[in-house]
Amino acid sequence: RKPYQRLPEWLKTKVPTGANYARIKSDLRGLNLHTVCEEARCPNIGDCWGGGEHKTATATIMLMGDECTRGCRFCSVKTSKTPKPLDMNEPENVSQAISKWGLDYVVLTSVDRDDIPDGGSEHFAKTIRLLKAKAPNILVECLTGDFQGDLECVARVAYSGLDVYAHNIETVEALTPYVRDRRATFRQSLKVLEHVKKIKPSLITKTSIMLGVGETEEEIMEALKELRNVNVDCVTIGQYMRPTKRHMKVHEYITPEKFNYWSEVGNRLGFLYIASGPLVRSSYKAGEFFIGNILK
Ligand code: SF4
Ligand code: SF4
Repeated sequence: RKPYQRLPEWLKTKVPTGANYARIKSDLRGLNLHTVCEEARCPNIGDCWGGGEHKTATATIMLMGDECTRGCRFCSVKTSKTPKPLDMNEPENVSQAISKWGLDYVVLTSVDRDDIPDGGSEHFAKTIRLLKAKAPNILVECLTGDFQGDLECVARVAYSGLDVYAHNIETVEALTPYVRDRRATFRQSLKVLEHVKKIKPSLITKTSIMLGVGETEEEIMEALKELRNVNVDCVTIGQYMRPTKRHMKVHEYITPEKFNYWSEVGNRLGFLYIASGPLVRSSYKAGEFFIGNILK
């Protein structure tokens, strides 16, 4: 298959607008917070921050700095073997800022911190505990790394009071060594998701897959079945978009019809929720969906 060169129509998005979007954007200034929405120039920012039809605003906040100890080939976050030490005030500051915003749903994520003995799991957990104490009505999703397979770290976050635990497998098993950092494996990621559900069945577990990096349909099917086998509740499937020329190439632009097909497959397999579309991202309209359908 020959890679397509031009961006198909369905991947072009409008400039975000809306009062809620503008308000959150102005609130962000001066708070010294990093949102993935802005830094990854996510195409869904208008929808997520604006709240969609259920008026549930979602944003994704990045904890533990902007330097990652890993280097995945699709990701535009900076890599460093020696990132800056953790800001011990961050859990307090972030929880306070978020609780004042009027967000309905927040996703807390982070760079991978393999340099810290507990992978930053206590930092994560503390932020969630403080946030839930200040704003019990905000639904909290965390999107963590694999903590190098350390299940104690996974448990620490799972027991911190959050609502949704997400960890992304990113791609099918065969392409994992090519797409993700060499320390990440498909099996290890499955183990993380499996463990969360085992120790706290009331938590919703969630993962995300990018298509268009060279995977076959059989491989996607296999990945979805494996996820269902470990009781993952939700899957989001989106198109891989190359952040810069230094990142791995897009192998193929998957059509919207094909994404719909994967939605149907996911529903048949029994996922609680599957979002599949060219612009779907890990946290795409998460609040709109969860608040509208599952958690309230
Ligand atoms: Fe932010 Fe995620 Fe929505 Fe993109 S999909 S705007 S990163 S919350
Ligand atoms: Fe990016 Fe996460 Fe990979 Fe780090 S571990 S390079 S933040 S995808």
